Amino acid sequence: MKQDNRLRNDCFAMPRGVSWTPVDKAIEQLKRGLSNIKGTEVVSTTDGMGRILASSVCALSSNPPYTNSAVDGYGFCGPTKTQVSKLKVIPGVAAAGAPFVGKIPKGSALRILTGAVLPEGVDTVLLEEDIDQIDNFSITFEVFLNTGANTRKSGEDVLKGEQIFAKGHKLRPQDLALLVATGNLTLNVFCHLKVGIFSTGNELLDAHTTSFEQLEFSRIFDSNRPMLLSLIANWGFEVFDFGIINDDVNATRDSLNKASKSVDAIITSGGASAGDEDYVSRLIKSEGQLENWRIAIKPGRPLALGLWKGIPIFGLPGNPVAALVCSLIFVKPSLGLLAGCNWIKPQSYLVPSGFDKEKKIGRREYLRARLLADGDAEIFPSEGSGRISSLSWSTGLLELMDNEDKISKGDMVKYIPYSSF
Ligand code: AMP
Ligand code: MG
Repeated sequence: MKQDNRLRNDCFAMPRGVSWTPVDKAIEQLKRGLSNIKGTEVVSTTDGMGRILASSVCALSSNPPYTNSAVDGYGFCGPTKTQVSKLKVIPGVAAAGAPFVGKIPKGSALRILTGAVLPEGVDTVLLEEDIDQIDNFSITFEVFLNTGANTRKSGEDVLKGEQIFAKGHKLRPQDLALLVATGNLTLNVFCHLKVGIFSTGNELLDAHTTSFEQLEFSRIFDSNRPMLLSLIANWGFEVFDFGIINDDVNATRDSLNKASKSVDAIITSGGASAGDEDYVSRLIKSEGQLENWRIAIKPGRPLALGLWKGIPIFGLPGNPVAALVCSLIFVKPSLGLLAGCNWIKPQSYLVPSGFDKEKKIGRREYLRARLLADGDAEIFPSEGSGRISSLSWSTGLLELMDNEDKISKGDMVKYIPYSSF
């Protein structure tokens, strides 16, 4: 279903007079300004991995749909009342998918296997291993069993009609199991969010089409784009590669025009500050709607957020570390909102700091970190924003809050593993 869910022109507008925007304020603005821009479609649940539910879902059938045996053993009418019980064995067996037809009289038992529907007259199951004596005619055992022992009641997990998912939930493998188990074989989901990605800068060489021998003095390989393409594809969005754009107004305009015809959101890296060579920023400012966000964050800072022909653009800093951190903190949850999710805060864990550090008050800092064998966090020795090796070295980020000015060894710090994003 196609919907006209356009964003407001001022969706990225920051209140005037704020020189350095705190991270929390920036996040509040993104939450306020962004919303779902996608229509909906119906898909088979078996194809639902990673999709975002466009409506809440209720169980169409209970789980389990009928009371069944939780073990292999003998079914009878419980409870047992004496120390030693002896039950007559009825010929036959009840198995999963092959129910026993007939009634089991009181004082008798039937062989029953895991998952089988309880036959009429059976409400309790004796575990096979608990049998003391068995022959063709009877079983003897010495365990006390309450009525219902070793059975799974109809609806004990989920009752028919119960809500199992809210609108906006992003489906995981185990969710597909629950949906199918409760009879939901098709789903109403939001259409895929299409995200276009390009890099900017005259210094950049395309790793896809350039050989190592062609690496010239004064140039570098474009390392942001393979990172961002795979990062954003991993988040479940459909990515489109628009290559490298030279630092040139016309080339930037052509690329933005081309991208805005085929995608729902655009991510650029480089050229996002307000300097002379920052063409992305300059162009969107003069011909689209642009807000240069100066965020009190390290690494990061210049983030150019704007609209080009109504399409949201996230202009990331060119430095690879800042590009990744800004993607994780701002872009991922923003794309989620556009795609129909709620704002998702990454799961963090408090861990002891394995280092001492002084920090500027009033600024959020994200340090590249990993956990030592004893659980303490260690940080990469250099904070340089061009240190690509630090990204590979680390397993997550430490979030140092705005009001903190000093971290001492042993202080508890907030660790966010990359897998939380
Ligand atoms: P900019 O934000 O364009 O001023 O770039 C800041 C720094 O990041 C410069 O050193 C650029 O060379 C570098 N940079 C920009 N884009 C990329 C990229 N795609 N891959 C690697 N480094 C980049
Ligand atoms: Mg540049």
